[in-house]
Amino acid sequence: MSSVQVFEKLAEYRYEQIVFCQDKATGLRAIVAIHDTTLGPALGGCRMYPYASEEAAIVDVLRLARGMTYKAAASGLNLGGGKSVIIGDPEQDKSEELMRSFGRYVETLGGRYIVAEDVGTSTEDMEHIRIETSHVVGIDVTHGGSGDPGPFTALGVMHGMRACVEEVFGSPSLEGRIVAVQGLGHVGWHLCELLHEEGASLIVSDLREEVVERAIREFGAKPVEPDEILTIPCDILAPCALGAVVNDGSLASFRCSIIAGSANNVLLEARHGEALTKRGILYAPDYVINAGGLINVADELEGYNQTRVTKRVARIYDSMRTIIAISKRDGVPTNVAADTLALERIDAISSIERLHTGHPYGLERRRRETL
Ligand code: NAD
Repeated sequence: MSSVQVFEKLAEYRYEQIVFCQDKATGLRAIVAIHDTTLGPALGGCRMYPYASEEAAIVDVLRLARGMTYKAAASGLNLGGGKSVIIGDPEQDKSEELMRSFGRYVETLGGRYIVAEDVGTSTEDMEHIRIETSHVVGIDVTHGGSGDPGPFTALGVMHGMRACVEEVFGSPSLEGRIVAVQGLGHVGWHLCELLHEEGASLIVSDLREEVVERAIREFGAKPVEPDEILTIPCDILAPCALGAVVNDGSLASFRCSIIAGSANNVLLEARHGEALTKRGILYAPDYVINAGGLINVADELEGYNQTRVTKRVARIYDSMRTIIAISKRDGVPTNVAADTLALERIDAISSIERLHTGHPYGLERRRRETL
């Protein structure tokens, strides 16, 4: 990709900034992309991956940064969207020096970008970054970090499900609803716990037999083979393992009323949202209902408080209700309605942007200072 194409790409989706970082001494080659800071500083994970080319890294970081703008906006967070990538193999190329070198670059951005964990990076890496910059979240609990995001992601998924169930069955209660959960990992397991407490009947599947056995014992779950879970008759299908489960091949075989899970990129392509609507299946957009983890980690910026997180995650129910309302108002599928919700919020705030004081954190502060 030539530099001219990079600028074209930035202009196409209104990216604010892209930063290339290199440090010969540590071998650091990293890219930070800041998509939009209308709502607040850009928060997003740092992915470490052995990209086949620089172009592949640029394309990935831009795509991921933009996704974070929508996710934060639709979740009601006062944060913008950004992401970073370090080009390299996390197994072989990672070192304290490398992460600290990257942390120094994050520091130069003065808080416009806040880094977090992602694929290929860990809490330990965030600790190394933290030596060089305070603009980092996802740090160890002993330093005020927020810990495993899985339970909060699961909580958000459950609240999103409640909004969907209310729309489809007339009551937000999950009691007696049949939920098929694909994947019993960090999110799926906690989701089963919550659904079991709510009185739902569970059908589960995982590649790990021991965790399936445990779900049978603890939740009275009905196990099915991994190739059966997507087609089993149920009220709600909750994909909590893999992306792209909704595709041309699977579309006709779903036997559920609602699809609501934690997996990222549940739809192979955006057009599959429309296809689900045509099939009469209500889809809870992934980036909206799986935002509990982001809400949890972002809370570190205010001094981590679990009670506040629990309240904020519960608002995913409201976001999902709004998305359903926009979907009906505009006659669009819910995945499009989610983007509309995010963009409407950004547009509303950017209309006061002319009075912006330049402080990266502050909608509240901006409002106070402009009264
Ligand atoms: P995880 O790796 O802890 O769990 C995934 C589980 O799915 C594992 O138990 C695995 O054995 C199982 N699995 C894999 N392939 C399967 C298959 N074909 N059929 C059935 N089970 C299968 O991951 P996680 O942290 O629980 O995340 C689950 C999904 O949610 C991922 O797509 C992730 O990107 C997304 N997500 C997670 C979080 C979070 O807070 N952890 C936040 C947002 C999105």
